[in-house]
Amino acid sequence: MLLDPIQSRMALRCALDHKFAILAVNADSPSAMTDCLDAARECDAPIIIETSLWQLTGRSFGGGDALMGMARYLAELTVLANGERYRDVPVIFHTDHIKGPDTLRLLTAAIGGLPFGDGQTQLRASTISLDSSELSEQENIEHIAALCTAAKEAGVAATLEMEAGVDAGVTEIQVAERLLAAVESAHPGNLYLWAPGVGTQHGLSDKGYPFSPDAVSKHQQRASAICGRPIGIALHGSSGLQECNLHDGVAAGVAKVNWSSESLLIRSQAAQEFYASHSAELVKTHPSWKTTAMDNGVQTFVSQRYLPKVMERIGVLSGMGMSSKIRASLLRGPQS
Ligand SMILES: [Zn+2]
Repeated sequence: MLLDPIQSRMALRCALDHKFAILAVNADSPSAMTDCLDAARECDAPIIIETSLWQLTGRSFGGGDALMGMARYLAELTVLANGERYRDVPVIFHTDHIKGPDTLRLLTAAIGGLPFGDGQTQLRASTISLDSSELSEQENIEHIAALCTAAKEAGVAATLEMEAGVDAGVTEIQVAERLLAAVESAHPGNLYLWAPGVGTQHGLSDKGYPFSPDAVSKHQQRASAICGRPIGIALHGSSGLQECNLHDGVAAGVAKVNWSSESLLIRSQAAQEFYASHSAELVKTHPSWKTTAMDNGVQTFVSQRYLPKVMERIGVLSGMGMSSKIRASLLRGPQS
């Protein structure tokens, strides 16, 4: 089931209460989405499917048109997540690393709703973040405030992640004070995730990471105090981290762990292996050339390699069996 913004807050709160983090996979194709939902179902775990600008404009979704990409991505995920097979899997759709001149137009549409099918049904994102790496603090505040205003004007809830200084070492605690307090005082009740720099870096590297669980803990406590409710830390750049780092991060208050680089590498290497090991079949005289050439051929092979890795990652974040806890919290309703 695809969670709405209010249900997503409850799921994130549940993660903090029960000391697990929800895996957020940057899924760049419909088959990647299906694999992630299957992995979550196998683990009885929640999952966040997130998309960045490069997926929205990519060939599988928008073909150059990011707004079309958003509608198509949301339509794919809504139909999939709300289908019978995944009825018990809490699925959050999150916008990740949206930047550039189209940021506010795209995210306003994701909050307010994109028309689907009959034009009456609106597709909405569960949770929202934007890429602040090229914004000043003031611009970051203004962008987040504009999204809060857009939600208010549309008469809907927005559940937001605010970021600062990801990839730039450890963010000073005063930054949380400046950014979160500015948004919270003008637009109370919209922020639920905070993504400061905690020593991680995007991408894959074999260099040591100065990851700081202490920074996670301090930022989580400070952000929660500023907002007056539990705020989870969103961890960017998790691909290069060791398992023990992830354990420590979750114990310190990480509620959402983004996973992109390693996920992409696993999928692309599996595809490479498929084509390398099936090259003899890809000639028109071979009896099984067609089953080899079909998208389902490579995607089924990729899925067999990828699913165990997603499940392993969910396990590292202590997410196994946590769907039932989220379902129970959804039945109880929002708490303060
Ligand atoms: Zn990121």
